[in-house]
Amino acid sequence: MEQVLERGEPHRAALAERVGDELVVASYLRDRSELWVAQVFSELEQYHHVFRSCNRAFAQAPGERATQWCGECDKCLFVNLVLAPFLSRRRYGTFSPANR
Ligand SMILES: [Zn+2]
Repeated sequence: MEQVLERGEPHRAALAERVGDELVVASYLRDRSELWVAQVFSELEQYHHVFRSCNRAFAQAPGERATQWCGECDKCLFVNLVLAPFLSRRRYGTFSPANR
């Protein structure tokens, strides 16, 4: 969460410089914990099949990009860990090939 806050400042400054003060950048999630986000997201089953937060999905070389959860990178492990308390075993398997 702290990384997001740190990354947000340069974006806000760049927008203010180029667009002006009329555009306000805010995040509804800023004061929420990642565990809170995971719990709310676990209830939004209609989006589970389109959500992917795997580092290998964003490889620089298009041919190396994963098309599914790899189940091994830091993001996959984090998503699995943070969603585990809120999902059934069947739903939990959606986010990692190792858990299917
Ligand atoms: Zn992954």
